[in-house]
Formats: sequence, C-alpha cells, structure tokens
Amino acid sequence: MLPTNKQQMSPLHYGVDIGGTKIEIGIFTPALKMLKNWRVSTPTSNYDDFLEAIHQLIRKADTWCEQVGTIGIGMPGIIDRADKVKSANVPCATGKFIVKDLQNLIGRTITVANDCRLFALSECYGGAGNNQEVVYGAIIGTGAGGGLCINGKLLKTVNNIAGEYGHVAASGMLLERYNLPVRACGCGLVGCIESYIAGPGLGWLYKFFGAKNESTTEFVEQLRMNNPIAQKTFTCYMDLLGSSFAALVLSYDPDVIVVGGGLSKINEIIDNLSDFIEQHLFDGVSSPKIRKAEYGDASGVRGAAILGKQNALA
Ligand SMILES: [Zn+2]
Repeated sequence: MLPTNKQQMSPLHYGVDIGGTKIEIGIFTPALKMLKNWRVSTPTSNYDDFLEAIHQLIRKADTWCEQVGTIGIGMPGIIDRADKVKSANVPCATGKFIVKDLQNLIGRTITVANDCRLFALSECYGGAGNNQEVVYGAIIGTGAGGGLCINGKLLKTVNNIAGEYGHVAASGMLLERYNLPVRACGCGLVGCIESYIAGPGLGWLYKFFGAKNESTTEFVEQLRMNNPIAQKTFTCYMDLLGSSFAALVLSYDPDVIVVGGGLSKINEIIDNLSDFIEQHLFDGVSSPKIRKAEYGDASGVRGAAILGKQNALA
C-alpha cells in the first residue's frame, strides 16, 4: 500500500508488547498519545500461531487507522545481535529469528527489543527521565531487569544486554553480613541479585528472617506497624538493592535512575534508596536522582512504539 500525503504528514506508531500470557498493541500519535489498544492471548507453544497473532493485531491496527503505522515490538528474553530469540516466557520463539520472520510475513520494517530495555526508553522519552542525558531504567517486579538510554536513545550493544542488572552476583560481603545462603537463579547461574531483590526474593527474605509466609503485601503492612521481622527484612533488602544500584552508578554514572515494576509502588523503597546506594559508594560519589516510573504498565507498548518511531526516523 502506498502512503498518502496525509500519512506522510502524521504517521502513527504501533507498539506491540509481547508477554507470556498476553500480546498488546497500542496505536500512538507522533506526540505519543495512545489512541487505541487491543490485547490477545499469547500462543506460546506454536511459533506459526505466535507470528500470526502479531500479524493479525497489526492488520487490525492498519484497518482501524486507515494507514500503515511504524512497528516496534518488545518481548521478554534476549534478542541477540543476529535477532535470534531466547525467551523463557515465549518458549516457541526461542531459537527463532523473529525480525526476519515477521518482516517476511507482514512485509514491513520491524524493530524488536527486550521489554525491560523499552521500559527505560519509555521513561526517558517524556517520562520520569525526560530531558536527562543518561537514564537508567530499572524494573523491580517478578524479575529484575533494566536498560540504559543515552541522549534519548537506547544503548545498542554487542549482546543487546546492557542493563541486565538482575543477573549480576549479589555482594558476597552482604550475603555474609546477613547469613544468607547462595540461591539458585532461573537463568542457570547461582547467587544472582534478582533472587533476593525481585518480588519473590523480597518475599523469600521476609520468610527467611522469621515470617510465616512470603507475602510481600503482608510484609508492607507489618513494616508500617514497625514489626521487627519486617524491619530486619527491609534493612537487608535495601542494603542488597543499594549495593546493586551502587554498582550501576559506578558503571554508568546516570543522571537519574527511574524505578518501575510492582515493588516501585512501595514508597519506603523509593524514598530510602538514595541513602542505601550512598552507603556503598566511596567519598566523593553521590547517588543520582531516584524517580518512580511515570508510565507503569503502559511502558511496554509505549516503549515499543518509540522504538519503531526512532527506527523510522533513523
Ligand atoms: Zn540469574
């Protein structure tokens, strides 16, 4: 389909967010206002069905917009330098070349990136990291992942892995300080910081220090009632998180760290993070600004739409 003059003046941008259970498409204006979105279930066991589900969403968007939007896609897992996928959440895509396969099917240019990296891109583009030169976006939710943006662009690197802070080993000094065991991680390594600081890790710490269960909701309630087990859990948790983020400061020296994901909704974590980061930095180095994400759950489609938009302008 040839673009009309109207389309050339105001192209729309599609962001596709692929999760382990749902695929969402959002249609965005050039100013990134979302006009419309749809969701479908993710086919995770059959690759052809998976590709077709994305294809159908894009066709639906084209029909709705009466034009051909740019396409950016975010998905969990690793999309390596050859665009080969490794994704625990979408097993049928593992080992496949998703960009080539989708472009063959849909006949348009498609850009794909890791969903945590796109969270960072979304926040640095009109979000909590707007107008900042170096923005690190960190998600603390079911897992721990992130991404780095410099001058409004996602850092593109050899393995497309920059920002994957959850799978750096937890500080041995802190494991010893709190008598914590070295835990196995889903990635195949042991002792990854994600095992302690993501949502399930926080629940595990709470029980480790003496609680009856691993409920993070109960942990927050008890913390606010000054329960000693919750307080001990909090100090240990923040020490681990502060140490992990101090390593990010020494590696990337960002202007701002934007924090998203379920645990970013716990104000005590956000409010105390700078102090705990500084406990792990030597004299003369200070914590960057810590900000809560502005776009939350909308970051997936929004970040993907920005990626497609930037690629079209490149
Ligand atoms: Zn790991």
